[in-house]
Amino acid sequence: MNTFENLNLNEQLMGAINRLGFKEPTQIQRDTIPLILNDKDVIGESATGSGKTLAFGAGIIKKCNPGEGVQAIVLVPTRELAEQVKDEMIKLSYQKQIKILAIYGGVSINPQIDDLRRAEVVIATPGRLLDHLTRRTIDTSKVKIFVLDEADRLVDMGFIEDVEKIIKACPTDRQTLLFSATIYQSAKQIAETYMKNPTMVHATRMVDPTKLEQKYYDVPSNLKKELLIHLLKKENSDLTMVFCNTRRITDMVVEVLKVNGIRASSIHGGLTQVKRLKTIDLFHNGKFQVLVCTDVAARGLHIEGVTHIYNFDIPKDPKDYVHRIGRTARAGKEGLVMNILTQRDYGNFARVQDTFREFSIQKEDRPYLKMTIKNPERNSSRRSDNSQNRRNYGRNNNNNRFNNRSNNGNSRFGKSSSNSSGSQRNFKRRYWKNYKKQFQIEFDQLSQ
Ligand code: ADP
Ligand code: MG
Repeated sequence: MNTFENLNLNEQLMGAINRLGFKEPTQIQRDTIPLILNDKDVIGESATGSGKTLAFGAGIIKKCNPGEGVQAIVLVPTRELAEQVKDEMIKLSYQKQIKILAIYGGVSINPQIDDLRRAEVVIATPGRLLDHLTRRTIDTSKVKIFVLDEADRLVDMGFIEDVEKIIKACPTDRQTLLFSATIYQSAKQIAETYMKNPTMVHATRMVDPTKLEQKYYDVPSNLKKELLIHLLKKENSDLTMVFCNTRRITDMVVEVLKVNGIRASSIHGGLTQVKRLKTIDLFHNGKFQVLVCTDVAARGLHIEGVTHIYNFDIPKDPKDYVHRIGRTARAGKEGLVMNILTQRDYGNFARVQDTFREFSIQKEDRPYLKMTIKNPERNSSRRSDNSQNRRNYGRNNNNNRFNNRSNNGNSRFGKSSSNSSGSQRNFKRRYWKNYKKQFQIEFDQLSQ
């Protein structure tokens, strides 16, 4: 029988799990927990939302003792995920006096230094943890368990060198665990170098396709926003996430939704940490219905009640597609994914279909669109520099920025000079300023 009782957990953990109301372990939990409790190194690959946190969390909580220093480190790619994993682990540590700490950048380091003296378990993003290592404000000599959560993303986001430095600072007789929804070559390399005869465990490889309906619409680019708003208004959804490829488009979409009467907010890497956490919190609590975000928000976050995912852009990297759609249909619930394609998404979409042949993404006919949406920039009488920027970036979200530069550039000149009140020279200056910003944005995203 598939019960938690069979997993050799202790009374404390059983109590915490009962309190969470979980009836039976998920596949990844059932297959990895016994290995983890047996001190084995494990590579766990399983769908988003399949309960990986509890899989490694149970091992950590069982093995760490109060007052014995930092005994477990979990590295995660984003600050939001650090908070979320910490919260889940705190629930698992119910009635066990161990201190679990989230450590990440973008907030003051001093309180962390104090907290680290008393912590037993540290959930951290690599950059800030390395900072503490350099300052010698964390003692890693007692670490028994080292976990890489969302390991692929850690590698993709360019954290690999930081991760390696941190691993090297931990004792060699530690246990190393690596978890991800997708395990690709790069993460495997870490495994070969830093793990001891790891056992590979594959649970359901991807999001459970039977729980998830995926559709796509193919529209001319001037109807993209129109269709999004039409669908958002028509669909009977609970919480909804809309994914965009750049920060700029994210902001543009939020603005369009707001002027069209849809309560929306955004999160992306350009916002402060405090603002990002606050937004996620408000969304969690249903204070607004549509969260518009870049891929930063997609990784590993679990938000209860997300029923609809919209891809306003198709991501360049097919792995990001899986992580986006993994925000819904979690823990056995159902979900719907809508992809809004225009010509410039074809390449990315083809790559998604190629990579995940098991997905069946149904084509939907475009509904009749009345072209009635309000456009923030067209409506405002004083068009600010800012909205002008947004307008340009929205059109320009494309890998092929060099071609765009000449093509879109010309058409933009033509269009704007006809309705712009400023002089041609002014407009040219603004145009180049926008371009410089666009490069900066893309650059930021590469280093996100
Ligand atoms: P993953 O890391 O695999 O994406 P999470 O660890 O974030 O997934 O878990 C997703 C959700 O499922 C969380 O809300 C978690 O509390 C819940 N969950 C975990 N294990 C179980 C279980 N055995 N039964 C029911 N729900 C669970
Ligand atoms: Mg996870």
